[in-house]
Amino acid sequence: MLTVPPTTRPLQFASDNYSGICPEALDYLLQANQGDVPAYGDDEWTQKASDAFRNIFEIDCEVFFVFNGTAANSLTLAALCQSYHSVICHELAHVETDECGAPEFASNGSKLLLAQGDNGKLDPADVERLITKRTDIHYPKPKVISLTQATEVGTLYTTDELAALSGLARHHGLKVHMDGARFANALVASGKTPAELTWKADVDVLCCCGTKNGMGIGEAILFFDRSLAEDFAYRCKQAGQLCSKMRFISAPWLGLLETGAWLRNADHANRMAAYLEQQLRQIPEVKLLFPRQANGVFVQMPQSLIDELYRRGWKFYTFIGNDGARLMCGWNTTIEAIDELVADIRDSVSLFR
Ligand SMILES: *Cc1c(COP(=O)(O)O)cnc(C)c1O
Repeated sequence: MLTVPPTTRPLQFASDNYSGICPEALDYLLQANQGDVPAYGDDEWTQKASDAFRNIFEIDCEVFFVFNGTAANSLTLAALCQSYHSVICHELAHVETDECGAPEFASNGSKLLLAQGDNGKLDPADVERLITKRTDIHYPKPKVISLTQATEVGTLYTTDELAALSGLARHHGLKVHMDGARFANALVASGKTPAELTWKADVDVLCCCGTKNGMGIGEAILFFDRSLAEDFAYRCKQAGQLCSKMRFISAPWLGLLETGAWLRNADHANRMAAYLEQQLRQIPEVKLLFPRQANGVFVQMPQSLIDELYRRGWKFYTFIGNDGARLMCGWNTTIEAIDELVADIRDSVSLFR
């Protein structure tokens, strides 16, 4: 039997996708691993998971499951756009910085137009500037506003901010796409309902967190405007995103939704990040870069400190956001891991004083 030694120290705050599968998702995965069931999503697990989404979001939406977030975002944007259209997103948006051009590839060339805004959030004035900048035939026609909730730098859009952006979209005939790779984190932090944070704020499509929330594989796509989902199943199949043994994506999703684990997991990750933030605020060499509102803490640290932490084996990214260090918490982050990191930061800092 192959045994993989567990790491002896929790040496990472790199990403919420470093974690394993949470117990509830794994439990449902194992339950689904009994007998034969119809393939390609024509099974009871997939039906139940889709219905669970419709209940929780209080709307009869179209639900699809794909393997990852890049596929979810890029196929969705491709469904909303013709190749001559454009998508307005934040300059730090995952669709721009971390999907290797997949949205443009999937849409046969729809162009991303980059807007600015503080704290990783689209500034409505800059979005409107991009929408109205040109109306001639030589410029790719703006068709979608894509926003990320929670954002790439761990901040949240309020419902008023969402309404302002979707109001702009409606006014100018654009659709609204929400990259919700960390939607549950935003949801529990906001105290709003899933409906309030999406379709009641005129969001047309949500790409919903699975992997970072506690699944092994699998994101959900919710089309609140069902007409936009026409032929979407064909698009998924053509892109190699139709899982034949679909139950192994949908059953864990049902586990997350039915047991409430998706909310508990997100809440835990947010609380851990809050604790980490609180500890780091007491270290003068470490400066918070963005308001900590979900499960990520973004800090500026001296390069010597970053180097020393890497040397001690800690893993975290420094290329996301504006060159700060990103410290991500997940469903399985522990207080002990945070204390250990903070102790190493304090110890390292004292070396350079
Ligand atoms: C992680 C993430 C995704 C999905 O990435 P995949 O690696 O393709 O699953 C999408 N958007 C944001 C903001 C993310 O952080």
